[in-house]
Amino acid sequence: MAQINLDTVRKEFDDDGRTIVAVNDLDLTIRDGEFLVLVGPSGCGKTTTLRSVAGLEEVTAGTITFDDEDVTDLRARDRNVAMVFQNYALYPHMNVRRNIGFGLRLSTDMSSQEIDRRVDEVAEMLGIQELLGKKPKALSGGQQQRVALGRAIIRDPEVFLMDEPLSNLDAKLRAQMRTELQELQHELDVTTVYVTHDQTEAMAMGDRIAIMNDGELQQVGTAEEVYRSPTNEFVANFIGSPSINLLTATVEGDTLKGPGGFSYRLSDPSPVEGYDRVRVGIRPEDMTLVEDGIAAAVTVVEPMGNENFCYMEMGDVDLTARIDSSLRPSPDETVQFGFEETALYLFDPETGQSLK
Ligand code: ATP
Repeated sequence: MAQINLDTVRKEFDDDGRTIVAVNDLDLTIRDGEFLVLVGPSGCGKTTTLRSVAGLEEVTAGTITFDDEDVTDLRARDRNVAMVFQNYALYPHMNVRRNIGFGLRLSTDMSSQEIDRRVDEVAEMLGIQELLGKKPKALSGGQQQRVALGRAIIRDPEVFLMDEPLSNLDAKLRAQMRTELQELQHELDVTTVYVTHDQTEAMAMGDRIAIMNDGELQQVGTAEEVYRSPTNEFVANFIGSPSINLLTATVEGDTLKGPGGFSYRLSDPSPVEGYDRVRVGIRPEDMTLVEDGIAAAVTVVEPMGNENFCYMEMGDVDLTARIDSSLRPSPDETVQFGFEETALYLFDPETGQSLK
């Protein structure tokens, strides 16, 4: 086990003479035994960060330590990490037993009996004992993924690094494997960094979530922290499905005036003091349809079973509200919505920083 520390880690690539900053002076601590999910849009630098921790990328600047050991200049094979990728890269000509034991056979002087015993243990942990004699091509995607995990676990690493390991699986299996993977990680208690672009997966799995954009770390926190107290508009917008509603409002005294007829009087205007304009966010589940509120025109109502998604237009802004399944306004109908002031998110219009 190990605590991983990244101190101003920077990784630049040269793209035909143009410098690409894939990771921009990243400071991040992954606690001992923690399941940390690194999430962000495509190209934000997640994979490069993970590969730098693995030792597969040489960083341009900064240091990486595992506990007190500086591993920045260590080769991948000299860091005690195990990686699991989205393409499992199992050896097609070897059966599952040999695939799982292969790393140990190569890197240790363990006897075959001892390796077999360890493979049996790991197979039992993953519930794949009956697959040990099979070749990878005879396995389903989920089974192959378990074998790939087995190969990582058997090496008893200090750190697990996983890059979108579930993205080749169908939705149902992915959901099931998420839970299994979490349970397994808690059982093994091995520090884990897990990369995904899927915020739902990040929220479901991470002890904490680190959100990146453009090579820069935006926020690290629990699912609840990043959802309810985003440090900036990017995080607020990236986390949550359906996404948060966002609009620009002018500040007129204690009142926010926005597109269409948006007008909202703040009982506490102190966060917007000194601003002419602010960005306003309201989560879809924080909106309710009321008799006397802010008007918006319904475009589509999508029934979800337990609730309805109500899509609306207010001036030039599209809004989404999650409403009770018994409410079914018709398209083109004008409805009124309301929300609690505590549910409002306010951001600086230039920097995007949260004003609360
Ligand atoms: P994705 O989810 O699409 O995999 P990511 O967040 O993992 O994206 P990275 O793969 O880390 O992002 O890439 C970050 C940036 O660095 C991108 O702009 C990418 O094009 C660039 N990059 C990554 N690897 C290289 C490389 N070997 N040479 C040049 N540029 C690279």
